[in-house]
Amino acid sequence: MNRFIYEHKHKLKKEDRVRIKGHKPCIIWLTGLSGSGKSTIASELEYILNKFFKAHTYILDGDNIRRGLNKDLGFSKKDRKENIRRIAEVAKLFVDAGLIVITAFISPFKEDRKFARSLVEKNEFIEVFVDCPIDVCERRDPKGLYEKAKKGIIKDFTGIDSPYEKPENPEVNLKTHIEDVSTCVYKIIKKLIEKNVISLEKTGIKSLKELREKIEKVLKEE
Ligand code: ADP
Repeated sequence: MNRFIYEHKHKLKKEDRVRIKGHKPCIIWLTGLSGSGKSTIASELEYILNKFFKAHTYILDGDNIRRGLNKDLGFSKKDRKENIRRIAEVAKLFVDAGLIVITAFISPFKEDRKFARSLVEKNEFIEVFVDCPIDVCERRDPKGLYEKAKKGIIKDFTGIDSPYEKPENPEVNLKTHIEDVSTCVYKIIKKLIEKNVISLEKTGIKSLKELREKIEKVLKEE
């Protein structure tokens, strides 16, 4: 780092930005194989956080990051590391701004996820393992990527010719091959309530049971 770079202490602090919101900021870090369900869950989770909790959210995913900020990066180990480093730093800025940021990246390496966790406070990082067996992901193959990887058209594909290191102690574990989307979303929301990121107060919802039913109904109606 350039030794002539000095941090400017701005007048307004993170606490001031958080105070005007009805929730605490955090990073919900979704990790899992391609096709495990990260983008699907991120999208529905954000919808529920907005609708019932009036939370200020933002999703960071492959589309808005690899097509812009990280368009110079590929999929070698070095580039994957740099990809996650930049995403983690951007997510940290969102937390500083007072938002709930949801990241949806394979993020296959433990070390890189650990780095992301290290950037924010203890209660501000919620690792969600989107845990789905590779054969189910391959069958879903929503973008046709497994087929291309197996033919050798795509190199360094996670689960095929690049490793995925499972999280050991994720805050939330989702089995998307047996739990439906609304159950997965509910489990994350419940964890956010437990961690005091959001609360049922002011939502008009009286219990977790009622919340669960509402999530199921709303996601079915779409
Ligand atoms: P990823 O972002 O992890 O690559 P996607 O969300 O793009 O995965 O694709 C996951 C696919 O699996 C979607 O077609 C989705 O509809 C399907 N799916 C089935 N059950 C679930 C579930 N419980 N959670 C998330 N996705 C699911």
